Amino acid sequence: MTEHLNHFIAGTGVEASDGRRIALVNPVTEQVYGSCARGTAEDVDRAVAAAQRQLEHGAWRQLDGAQRGRLLVKLADLVERDTDVLADLDADAIGRSPLEPRRLDVPNAVANLRAAAGWANQLEGRTIPTGGYFGTKTLSYTVREPVGVVGAIVPWNSPLMITVWKLAALLAAGCTVVIKPSEETPQSALHLAALAQEAGFPDGVINVVTGYGAEVGRALCEHPHVAKISFTGSPEAGREIQRTAGVLFKHVALELGGKSPQIVFDDAPFDDALRGCALGLFANQGQVCAAGSRILVQRGIAERFAAALAEAARAVKVGDPREPGIQMGPVAKKAQFDRVNRYIQLGIDQGATLLAGGVSTPERGWFVRPTIFANANNEMAIARDEIFGPVGTVITFDSEEEAVALANDSTYGLAATVWTTDLARAHRVAAAVKVGAVGVNCWSPLDANLPWGGVKTSGIGREGGFGGAMAYTEEKVITVLLPT
Ligand code: NAD
Repeated sequence: MTEHLNHFIAGTGVEASDGRRIALVNPVTEQVYGSCARGTAEDVDRAVAAAQRQLEHGAWRQLDGAQRGRLLVKLADLVERDTDVLADLDADAIGRSPLEPRRLDVPNAVANLRAAAGWANQLEGRTIPTGGYFGTKTLSYTVREPVGVVGAIVPWNSPLMITVWKLAALLAAGCTVVIKPSEETPQSALHLAALAQEAGFPDGVINVVTGYGAEVGRALCEHPHVAKISFTGSPEAGREIQRTAGVLFKHVALELGGKSPQIVFDDAPFDDALRGCALGLFANQGQVCAAGSRILVQRGIAERFAAALAEAARAVKVGDPREPGIQMGPVAKKAQFDRVNRYIQLGIDQGATLLAGGVSTPERGWFVRPTIFANANNEMAIARDEIFGPVGTVITFDSEEEAVALANDSTYGLAATVWTTDLARAHRVAAAVKVGAVGVNCWSPLDANLPWGGVKTSGIGREGGFGGAMAYTEEKVITVLLPT
C-alpha cells in the first residue's frame, strides 16, 4: 500500500508549502511504502496560528474543565475503538510486533486520556493569607491558566503512547498544540488528530506538522507564539532544543535517554528477575528509553544468571513480525542498525565476553540478533552509552554499596530496577539510586497516574499523573484590596 500523508492543520490535510516530501521505508523489506509532507517553517507558522486562534478567540477557549474532560473521554473511547488500527500503524512503521502496542501502548494511551479527563476539572488555585497592602487588608488567590500553544516533539519508538502522554495533559490544562511526530512514524499522530476531530475537538486545537527535526522541530522551538516545547528524544537533540527554545524563555520539558540498571541481588527471585531482565532488554527490540540495558548481578549468581540470560536471548525468534511465532522484528532504521552493530563490535574490542548474538549481517531488513555481553565493566562503551537496541551488558558486583555506586556511575538517570526478596534492602537501594523511577521486582511499571521522567542527562520535568497536567499551566496570582 502506498501512503501519501499530509500535515493536519486547522482540521484539514495540507501538503508542505513547497510540496516536498519524505520517503517512508519499511524496515523489514527496506522498500519505500509511502511518503509524508516535509514540513517547512511556513507550515509551522500556519499550524501555530491555528492553535493560537483557538487559544485566544476560539470555541476551545470558552470550554470549562468539565467540558474539556468530556471531549477527552470521547477521544479515549475512539482510541480504544481503533486499538488495532493504531497498534498496526505504530508497529508497521518500525517493524515491531503489533502485539506489543496492542497490549501496552494503546491501552496506556487510553488510560492517560481517561485520567486527564478527570484532571481537567481539578486544576485549582490557592488562597494565600498575606500581611495586606500598606495597612489595608487584601485577598490574594491564584488561578491556573493554560501555558499557551505547545510544540510537542515526539520520537519514533512508541509514537502513539508518547504523543498521548503530552496531548492528554496539555488538553486537560486547556492548551492547544502543534505535534511534530518523528519523520519515520507520522501515521498514528495523524490518525489521532482525525479521531480528535471526530470526538468534537474544535479544528485548530490539535495540529500535526510532519517533517525533520532540523526543519519543523527547529521552527517550532524558535516560533514566537509557542510557549512550551515538550520534547521526547535523544540528549543530543534535547541539548539543541535548550539552545533554541531555552534562550527564548520558553518552557522546555525534556524526556531523554537512559542506560538504566537492573540490579539483581543473590536473593532475587531468580526466574522473575530473568524474565524481567529479558523483557527490559528485548521489548521493542531494545528501543525503549527505560531499557534495562545494564544488568548488575551479585557475584554468587552472576555466572548462572548471565548464562540464563544468554539462553533467553538465543531463544528469541527474530524475523518478520507479521509472521506467526516471531517475537522480534528488525530495528527501526538503517542508522539504528549501524549504531547497534558498531556498539556490539566495540564491546568485543574492549574485552567483554560475548555470550549470545553478535554483529549481524542479514541479507535484507535491519535485523539484529539479541546480544548479551558478560564480564563487562562500567567503563566500557556498552555500559556507558545508550545503544537503543537489543544488547545487554552484565556487570558483576559484590556488595550493596558497590551496586549502588555502579548504578549511579552513569550520566543518565531515567529508571532502575531492584531484584531482591529483602524488603529493607529494596527500600534502601530504591532511595539511593539517582533516577526518576524505580521498580522493585518489576521492570518499568507504567501507569497513567504515575509521574515519568529522568534526572541528569535523562531529562528535565515529569509527564504523567496529576503533576503532568499541572506542568501545562501557569500560576497567576490576583490580589484584591479590601478597604473597610
Ligand atoms: P531524536 O532526538 O533523534 O528525535 C526525536 C524527535 O526530535 C524527532 O521528532 C526528531 O525529528 C526531533 N528532532 C531532532 N532534532 C531536533 C532539533 N534539533 N530540534 C527539534 N526537534 C528535533 O530521537 P529518536 O531517535 O527519535 O528517539 C530515540 C531517543 O528518544 C532515545 O534517546 C530514547 O531514549 C529517547 N526516548 C526517551 C523517552 C523518555 O520518556 N525519556 C521515551 C522514548 C524515547
